[in-house]
Amino acid sequence: MAFEYSDKVQDLQKRLNAFMDEYIYPAEAVFKAEMDEARKNGNPWVPTRIVEQLKEKARAADLWNLFLPESQFGAGLTNLEYAPLCEIMGRSPIAPEVFNCSAPDTGNMETLVRYGTPEQQQQWLMPLLDGTIRSGFAMTEPDVASSDATNIQARIERDGNDYLINGQKWWTSGANDPRCKILIFMGKTDPDNPNRHRQQSMILVPMDTPGITVLRHLPVFGYDDAPHGHAEVRFENVRVPASNILLGEGRGFEIAQGRLGPGRIHHCMRLIGKAERALEKMCRRALQRVAFGKPVADQGVTRERIANARIMIDQARLLVLNAAHMMDTVGNKAAAKEIAMIKVVAPNMACQVIDWAIQAHGAAGVSEDFGLAQAYASSRTLRLADGPDEVHRNAIAKLELSRYIER
Ligand SMILES: Cc1cc2nc3c(=O)[nH]c(=O)nc-3n(C[C@H](O)[C@H](O)[C@H](O)COP(=O)(O)OP(=O)(O)OC[C@H]3O[C@@H](n4cnc5c(N)ncnc54)[C@H](O)[C@@H]3O)c2cc1C
Repeated sequence: MAFEYSDKVQDLQKRLNAFMDEYIYPAEAVFKAEMDEARKNGNPWVPTRIVEQLKEKARAADLWNLFLPESQFGAGLTNLEYAPLCEIMGRSPIAPEVFNCSAPDTGNMETLVRYGTPEQQQQWLMPLLDGTIRSGFAMTEPDVASSDATNIQARIERDGNDYLINGQKWWTSGANDPRCKILIFMGKTDPDNPNRHRQQSMILVPMDTPGITVLRHLPVFGYDDAPHGHAEVRFENVRVPASNILLGEGRGFEIAQGRLGPGRIHHCMRLIGKAERALEKMCRRALQRVAFGKPVADQGVTRERIANARIMIDQARLLVLNAAHMMDTVGNKAAAKEIAMIKVVAPNMACQVIDWAIQAHGAAGVSEDFGLAQAYASSRTLRLADGPDEVHRNAIAKLELSRYIER
């Protein structure tokens, strides 16, 4: 694996960093003020003016849709080339959306690129690439352990030229957002199939279809994550045309494998940026804050944490780059182990580094003034979302053991 970024990537890094300095970091306070105002007025589920303005600037600066490897729709970057750019975006909670590179839209767009028909792409992929609509991914259910997706109970039943959809989902990120116009929904078309991995399908469900009710918003450690958020959603006799099915009946797991790889690595890339920013804040604070006659940075324990944070971030970055390289060279399926490895490493690393940064800030660390509490909350969810740590560790161990099983 080459360690030197190409001229193209170095140019994008430079332009992206300049955009972050000029527009994104100063806009964080503006975003917060707009959201506080919206909450005060009783409805935080409205897009902010600042993010919509910055989206126009990012598009004009040609810093738009940088994800999407091997596709005529994206910027033509490989996963390995996108990694350092996505890391930069991960430094700010508002940045990914500004560059049209945020979850769950990137994973959904990749799904539509890979598995959508030309008609599905025309109707849903184009406005998503344009940033004029957003999307959700509805797999997890309140009533079953959804880390094992074979448990999913929602039904997708053929009825003439349509499918009828019934079930309850939760943690559908983005479903509260008025711009969310389309869901990729996972459910069972063939619950009696003896092959549990052929029971499921994925289907496109427009949010305005009758029978869809957003029941409630689910906060994360008290954060509403508005205007995006996470929701519990009921589907009652939701009727969509049969042509909305993705790839065909029984292909849900196949699509999930293809979708979750890119979605997971993007989360990991962003977590590295988040950890880098936390370490930067930790160093600055520890140098300037004096306790017991010397800067906090001069305490051995602080130095040890700073050193360990640097080691852990760089280790995680190298693993992420390796996984990206594998995805580019042998494909997402063959890179399953490397993707599972980073999905364990990156959120745990980020949680630890951010926790040390919080500690170095004292009580200020858990306030809203430094962004660390929110960074911790969002990183912690990634030890669950897109598969809990334990499930990924099981997958890694299974692949490792399979090398030694005698046939
Ligand atoms: C902020 C956030 C956003 C999310 N966004 C989405 C979204 O957009 N769309 C969507 O569909 N879902 C989303 N999710 C849901 C997420 O993907 C699920 O929570 C996750 O897959 C785990 O499923 P579960 O919550 O049902 O946990 P369960 O399946 O009930 O598992 C509970 C715990 O059991 C343990 N466990 C499970 N399996 C094993 C095993 N094999 N070995 C050892 N221990 C095990 C783990 O500790 C696990 O955490 C989101 C979650 C969060 C927190």
